[in-house]
Amino acid sequence: MKEPRAKLGCRVKIVDMLHSPARTRAVGELLIGQRGRVVDVLRGGTLALVELDSDWADLPGGVRRWPVQWDDLLVSSLESGPVIPDADYRVSLSGSGRDAVQHAVPAGTDNSLCGEKAYPLPICGWSISFSPTAARACAECARLVLEQANP
Ligand SMILES: [Zn+2]
Repeated sequence: MKEPRAKLGCRVKIVDMLHSPARTRAVGELLIGQRGRVVDVLRGGTLALVELDSDWADLPGGVRRWPVQWDDLLVSSLESGPVIPDADYRVSLSGSGRDAVQHAVPAGTDNSLCGEKAYPLPICGWSISFSPTAARACAECARLVLEQANP
């Protein structure tokens, strides 16, 4: 198996609910079939923290991020190419630590859409796709991405 951290940012689908923590299994029926991406690796690499695509209001307890055991996930590797429509934009950061803001950078360039000076993620470089719905997404970048996706 690949190094768990190498799966950060990968697209996943929850396909089973046999091995995940009790808190996740308790609402397993609602989570199976959901798609999302790996936003963190927990417990020494044994669990993925999955941020689901669905609107938080449609999810159990309004929670979008769930710890899921790898065996309960179908992982589509980053190398298999873009699988989501907004994959043309990479995440870059401005600020640091908890104050970091995620900006959208068009593929092949170093500049964020909103013009803010930003830098690639320390661990993943330019490998993570920008998500306009991410909690720390830059409002201006999110607006521009959505505008281009839905003219
Ligand atoms: Zn921005």
